[in-house]
Amino acid sequence: MSDADDGARGPWESEYLALHDPVTSLPNRLLMTEFLAGALSSPQEARRVLAVFCLDLDNFRHFNEMFGPSAGDLILAETARRIRRCVRDHDLVARVDADTFIVVATGVGDAKAVDGLTRRLQSALNAPIGLSSGAVAYPLVNMGIALAPLDAEDADGLVRCAELALEQAKAEGPGTCSYFADDMNDEMSGRRTLEGDLRRAIVSDEFVLLFQPRCDARTLKLLGVEALIRWDHPQLGLLAPDAFVPIAEKSGLVIPIGEWVLRKACDTISRLPDLNVSVNVSVVQFRNDALVDTVDAVLKSTRVAPQRLELEITESVLIENAEKALEVLAGLKNLGVRLSMDDFGTGYSSLGYLRTFPFDALKIDRRFVGDLDHSKEALAIVQAILGLGRALGMQVVAEGVETESQLAILRADSCDEVQGFFLGRPMTEEALLAFIADRRLAS
Ligand code: C2E
Ligand code: CA
Ligand code: CA
Repeated sequence: MSDADDGARGPWESEYLALHDPVTSLPNRLLMTEFLAGALSSPQEARRVLAVFCLDLDNFRHFNEMFGPSAGDLILAETARRIRRCVRDHDLVARVDADTFIVVATGVGDAKAVDGLTRRLQSALNAPIGLSSGAVAYPLVNMGIALAPLDAEDADGLVRCAELALEQAKAEGPGTCSYFADDMNDEMSGRRTLEGDLRRAIVSDEFVLLFQPRCDARTLKLLGVEALIRWDHPQLGLLAPDAFVPIAEKSGLVIPIGEWVLRKACDTISRLPDLNVSVNVSVVQFRNDALVDTVDAVLKSTRVAPQRLELEITESVLIENAEKALEVLAGLKNLGVRLSMDDFGTGYSSLGYLRTFPFDALKIDRRFVGDLDHSKEALAIVQAILGLGRALGMQVVAEGVETESQLAILRADSCDEVQGFFLGRPMTEEALLAFIADRRLAS
C-alpha cells in the first residue's frame, strides 16, 4: 500500500496505532513486551535490577456502570497520567488490558528503590478522582511486583510472575500489593489444575453427597438430614468441601455444583417420606438471580414438598448486598422452603437483620458447642442464642454435638434440635437407610 492510498494516516501513524492504546495513548502489550525483552537483553541492564509492576483497578467495572463509559475513560486516562508521574522518563508504562497497566522500571538499583516506587504508586493511585459531572470516584489499585533477574530472566516469565503476584494481592483485598514469591507458581498452578478438574468432575459425576442426622433434642427422634458434599477425586481421593468449595466459588462453578447438590438432596428425600433435608447455599449462588427458579424447578421435578427443604445460609450473604439478599430470601420464602442461619455467632452478627430477614432457624456454630463442657463463656453464648431464638420465634439447632454432656446441657436449656458426631456422622444414602432401619428396630 502506498502512502497516498493510506489517506491522512501515514505508515508511522498506523504503526503507532498498532502499538498504542487510544484511550490513554500508552503503549499496548505488544510494545511493552518488545521493550521488556530489549531491556532484559541489553548488556547495560544485565547487572542491574529491573522491576515489573502489574497494576489493576479493582473496582473499574463498577465505575463504568455507575458513572458511564466516558467517565470510565477519564478514570483510565487519569490513572495513566498518575502512573507516568511516579516513574522516570525512560521507564515504560503500558495499558495491557481493560483496567490493567504494566510498568517496566529499568535500572532501579536495589530493593529499597523498588519499595519507594511501590509506595509512590500506591499513594498516587488510591486517591480520589474528580469527574466532570462533579461526582468523585475512589479507585483502589492492586499491584503485583516481579524482579529480574531474581524471579525470571525473560520477558514472558517476568510478566507472568508479576501477574501471579497481582492475583495474590487481589486475594488479600482491594488496594494491596504483593511481591512475587516462588511458591505462588505452585499454588496458582495447583489452583488452576483443581479448577480444571472441577469442571470435569461435574460431567463425570465425581461428587458424592453425604447426609448427617438432625435430631429432636428432647426425644432424639430423627427429623431430617443435612446434605454435605464430598469430591471423589480420581487422584487425590475423597476431598472435604473446604478443599474445593472456595475454588468452586471463585470460578463460579459452585452454581452448577450447588444445583447438583439440591437435586441430589431432594431426590434422596423423595424416597424417604418422613425426613426433611437441609442444603448449604453459598453466597455466590445468592448473587445469581436464577436461585429461586432453580429451587422451584428442583422441588417440582423431584415432587418434594417445599416445607421439607431447608436452605442453610451464612451471614456473609446479608453483609454483601443486604437489599438483593432480602429480595432472594423473600422469593425463596414464597416458594415455601425453610431458611436457616448457619454458623450463627461467628459472623458479623449485627442482630438487627434477624428481625428483617425471614429465618426459621438458627444453627449455633459448632465451635461454641464444642467448648460447652469446659468454657463458661461458650455456655453463656449458647444460652444467649437459645434465648434470642425463643424471643424471635425461631428454632435453634446446635451443631457439632460430640458428647453426652454437651447434649445434656443443650437439653436443659431447651435447644430444639441437635446435630453432631454423637448422634451420627455424615453418611452415604445407603448408610442412612441402614441407620434408619437400626433405629426402627431399637425403638
Ligand atoms: P457446615 O455447614 O457448618 O457443616 C457442618 C460441618 O461440621 C460438616 O463438615 C460436618 O461434617 C461437620 N461436623 C458435623 N458434626 C460434627 C461434630 O460433631 N464434630 C465436628 N468436629 N465436626 C462436625 P464438612 O462436611 O467438612 O463441611 C464443611 C463446610 O463445607 C460446611 O460447614 C459447609 O459450609 C460447606 N459445605 C458442605 N457441603 C456443601 C455444599 O453442598 N454446598 C456448599 N456451598 N457448601 C457446603
Ligand atoms: Ca451447614
Ligand atoms: Ca455450620
